[in-house]
Amino acid sequence: MTKQPHVLDGVAIASEIKAEVGLEVSKLVEQGITPGLAVILVGNVAASEIYVRSKVKTCGELGIFSELIAPPETVTTEEMLELVAKLNAREDIDGILIQLPLPKHVDTKRLLEAVSPDKDVDGFHPVNAGRLQSGQPGLQPCTPAGIIEVLKRARLPIAGQNAVVVGRSDIVGKPAALLLLNESATVTVCHSRTHDLAAVTRGADIIVAAIGRPGFITAEMVKPGAVLIDVGINRLTDKADVEKFFAGDEKRAATFEKKGSVIVGDIDPAAFKISSAYTPVPGGVGALTIAMLMHNTVKAARLRRGFSAESK
Ligand code: NDP
Repeated sequence: MTKQPHVLDGVAIASEIKAEVGLEVSKLVEQGITPGLAVILVGNVAASEIYVRSKVKTCGELGIFSELIAPPETVTTEEMLELVAKLNAREDIDGILIQLPLPKHVDTKRLLEAVSPDKDVDGFHPVNAGRLQSGQPGLQPCTPAGIIEVLKRARLPIAGQNAVVVGRSDIVGKPAALLLLNESATVTVCHSRTHDLAAVTRGADIIVAAIGRPGFITAEMVKPGAVLIDVGINRLTDKADVEKFFAGDEKRAATFEKKGSVIVGDIDPAAFKISSAYTPVPGGVGALTIAMLMHNTVKAARLRRGFSAESK
């Protein structure tokens, strides 16, 4: 009988991490320190508003002070730089999060580099990218850090494993590859110019897919028993696509009927069936991002005061 793959439940792992963060917050509060997160949301992009609301709500649940700053769509780069400078100087703010995307006329790169590296809870600042590259403690990008948490908490081996990361963005692919390398995996990074991608992925013990293309990694590209980490979030609005990826899945069909769309990752669900473990979409890696943001905020609060990253 073939063994059923293990579903890596991102929601359960996120709850575990949030409970730990809450405990760290209460220990800091006992010392008169309340960690604080400033969230900057420009304009009214519906998806960004949903993410931001959820971040602010989670702060409240864990005892983290949060401040939502919502400049108008017309805000200039200079005004945003001024705002960031004020937040950098504020003692009660440990983390600064600029919700992306920003309007086109705002210089995103300049702004992200203006955030103090010590308050850079998204881990996007070049200083933190450098710290990650050289294996120094620092603030790490939330989604890739979540991937490592999933693997570790499920007690899946990383050291010595062949890990193939498909995607090389600064936000996901590259930091994920570095984190896996820091955990002693043998890492290969693939991208749109990779020759014979399937031959590379078939050699992988762990595949991290961060491409942004629905069901791109098929079962034929996966070694049976591999661990599959699916970072992709793709919305399917065409019924034929839903039937292609989710044939016989009544729950998804019902969601599609109700909402007119369903979410699929970058890995074809058919590939999950031959894996040893996989992160579902939704409910996998995506569920961890906010938990890791909370973790980073408390970590920033501790490191800024000269404490160790965690109390234990
Ligand atoms: P980007 O578009 O920035 O990067 C995509 C990467 O995929 C690029 O490196 C690109 O290669 C590579 N790629 C594209 N086509 C191919 C191909 N045919 N073969 C091999 N590689 C290819 O995306 P992100 O990294 O920002 O995001 C990736 C996915 O993860 C998206 O679905 C996004 O929605 C999701 N995401 C989820 C998050 C969460 O769970 N919280 C957070 C962030 C992202 P090249 O560099 O050569 O162009």
